[in-house]
Amino acid sequence: MTWPPLREELRGIEPYGAPQLDVPVQLNVNENPYGPSLACAADIATAVAGAATTLNRYPDREFVELRTALAAYLSTDTPHGVTAEQVWAANGSNEVMLQLLQAFGGPGRVALSFAPTYSMYPEYARDTVTEWVLGRRESDFSLDLARARDLVKERQPSVVLLPSPNNPTGTALPPEAVATLCEAAQDGIVVVDEAYGEFRRTGVPSAVELLPEHRNLVVSRTMSKAFAAAGLRLGYLAADPAICDAIRVVRLPYHLSAVTQAAALAALRHAPELLGKVDELRAERDASVDWLRTRGLQVADSDANFALFGTFADRHAVWQGLLDRGVLIRETGPDGWLRVSIGTADEMMAFKQALTEVLEEEA
Ligand code: PMP
Repeated sequence: MTWPPLREELRGIEPYGAPQLDVPVQLNVNENPYGPSLACAADIATAVAGAATTLNRYPDREFVELRTALAAYLSTDTPHGVTAEQVWAANGSNEVMLQLLQAFGGPGRVALSFAPTYSMYPEYARDTVTEWVLGRRESDFSLDLARARDLVKERQPSVVLLPSPNNPTGTALPPEAVATLCEAAQDGIVVVDEAYGEFRRTGVPSAVELLPEHRNLVVSRTMSKAFAAAGLRLGYLAADPAICDAIRVVRLPYHLSAVTQAAALAALRHAPELLGKVDELRAERDASVDWLRTRGLQVADSDANFALFGTFADRHAVWQGLLDRGVLIRETGPDGWLRVSIGTADEMMAFKQALTEVLEEEA
């Protein structure tokens, strides 16, 4: 007998995760390079100290205060407003989406996305024994809407996962694409994963605006990126209240700790300060994309806090060359491409310097 007695299909599989290497310039997991300010960190600490005095009790299972604050924040993205009943949260948007698959996927059901896309999606499907179907994006990483709609109609997925902006390409979806696929997937839900939503370029709307028109639309967000709080583990969604009710059936009781709830509420009170850094990062992103293009490289248009660039005959050699110079990026995406997260101006300077050297060496 093989030990441990793991599910057959999980044998030999490596756990997901980028290498966590201790190098000076870390541009590999799309983190926000700016930590919270000292004032924000102090508020979080005070809030957590308050929660600590009642840790003998289970936390508010319905996290009403946090849902109300998240709804108020999301309401800034839509003229229709978002209510607390439309909001759900969990430990990172990865957990939010796993819960969606637990509730709406399962044996005999299909989850669908379009490649290249976020590599955790097939893991949610595998872990919930949901069939995984992968359509294709076009060569510029956009969706051919007619083809995407046909695939959805043919496979009748229970869950469609649409990251916008997409990881690893940075591509945002136009509202027409979301609307068309919501209509095509009428018997399922359509999850627009806006983990990087706050980084979108001016004029690109959030799918939150479309919620009143499509009861099967779910918009997922996270505090990991724009809120500079990846370590907090707080993801959330907005959807029809009936969808939030369905998730309650599969969530573990008290899944959001009192410490998490207190810290997230404190961080949300600092939203304007934290989001101020997003504007700096968007400018740095646009400048980095331009710079890469002036180097003769191909770069996917990006609405996120990273850029996909290439193409390289030996991308691993370029990745390694950068690492040898203290700059860690991510070897991911289609063959020949590399992804760099947008860091501070100094970090991007170090990246550009290192890449220039590596490309000169290769030439
Ligand atoms: N969606 C996408 C597209 C992502 O890239 C990530 C993180 N890299 C997540 C969701 C999950 O983020 P978190 O669990 O930290 O909210």
